[in-house]
Amino acid sequence: MREDMLTIGAFSKACRLSPKALRLYDELALLKPRRVDPDTGYRYYAVDQLERARLVAWLRRLGMPLVRIRQVCALPAADAARAIRAYWAQVEAETAVRRDLAAFLVDQLVAAPRKDTTMLELRYAAHSDRGRTRPANQDTAYAGTRLLAVADGYGPAGVPASSAAVEALRFLDTAELPAGDVLNLLEEAVQGATEAVRDATGDAEEDAGTTLTALLWTGSRLALVHIGDSRAYLLRDGALFRITDDHTVVQSLIDEGRLTPEEATTHPQRSLLLKCLSPTTPPDLRLRDAEPGDRYLLCSDGLSTVVPDARIRALLTTTPSPDTAVHALIDAANEAGGPDNVSCVVADVVEAAA
Ligand code: MG
Repeated sequence: MREDMLTIGAFSKACRLSPKALRLYDELALLKPRRVDPDTGYRYYAVDQLERARLVAWLRRLGMPLVRIRQVCALPAADAARAIRAYWAQVEAETAVRRDLAAFLVDQLVAAPRKDTTMLELRYAAHSDRGRTRPANQDTAYAGTRLLAVADGYGPAGVPASSAAVEALRFLDTAELPAGDVLNLLEEAVQGATEAVRDATGDAEEDAGTTLTALLWTGSRLALVHIGDSRAYLLRDGALFRITDDHTVVQSLIDEGRLTPEEATTHPQRSLLLKCLSPTTPPDLRLRDAEPGDRYLLCSDGLSTVVPDARIRALLTTTPSPDTAVHALIDAANEAGGPDNVSCVVADVVEAAA
């Protein structure tokens, strides 16, 4: 045996991959031995293969699937680094969805009774505007005693897509809300909305669809359903919090560190969606405690791409009623050029009238 060749046992010790794993990686062409003895079938590895074997071992420890490891190992170092970063961003995104689901279940199971017994309710307003340049309004906005929703349709069947999604949720406005069963009700509602959108888009399904961002009032809390790049904000004690993540290609590039938030604002494909309402992509679900004085805003990207958060906060802080807030926000979007349809729903959490 040549000096720089190692038996599978010695190679296994050096790279911390078991002989069984090495045999599997050989079969998968992930890490082929440099030489296989034609008589005995023994595998021999070269010392210079250790580096790759150790990378494989580390990537396994990271939980990367073997198919993906094979792709990463075939790349030059800089590209491999990018691929690992992208993989990890995906893992974190998926974990975040599961984390939110776990939090939702915990909240649902241990509903903390409100400290005071004041009954709360929503004051709300919704409005949708074509904007200054688009030929049609493909957005749909809705607000009722329990349901708040914004949907932004796209493609040739964008109008029926967004209205079908919201229409399919409207039963939530009057549905019985079984205590501790909000999650099942939302699941059912989202499934109904997904099917309604599919029926409404028909043959155009491939290049038409809709975002959906909705809040369901349970009497003391708000359940959030969100997919796409419409947004939900909370104004509490004068501070504005965005409570949704944009499901856009550009946002995923920011998460992977491949784009800065500043570059994203002028990216030519900044409105390209990563996810929309569809059977294969579950929406984000969250349950939020409501406080008297909270003001919620749902909006389509026609507002958030042209009106900065600071201006949104200022308008929400200075307008007395949801109705004046909604119109002030839409006016601000149109004054900024109104390049897209713009929809806003504003809801205040208030003490119920006796
Ligand atoms: Mg839009």
